Amino acid sequence: MTEIETKILKVLHILETKREKLSDEKFLEYCKVVKKNILKAFEERKLTKENAKLLLRRTNNLLELAEKKEEMKKIYRENLKICPECGMKNTKNANFCRYCGHRF
Ligand SMILES: [Zn+2]
Repeated sequence: MTEIETKILKVLHILETKREKLSDEKFLEYCKVVKKNILKAFEERKLTKENAKLLLRRTNNLLELAEKKEEMKKIYRENLKICPECGMKNTKNANFCRYCGHRF
């Protein structure tokens, strides 16, 4: 096993097991960095095609999860209306703030 492979495996393991310790943004960022490093190592022939494929599959699984979560957050944000009076979150189609009664 090459040095870079050991390093990538270590980071992947951290990303897979300690996900909750990272913010969503950091998690996504690290996944992208790992992916870039796998591709680079493969180009530099420090990884075999089979190993690169396996590592990429694991990284892509993590990336997919992270992106799905970001997407959900975006949808959630888009469906909210912030009350200018009290700053609380209301649903987009609300006519009145459900916290302070402010009319939108
Ligand atoms: Zn309000």
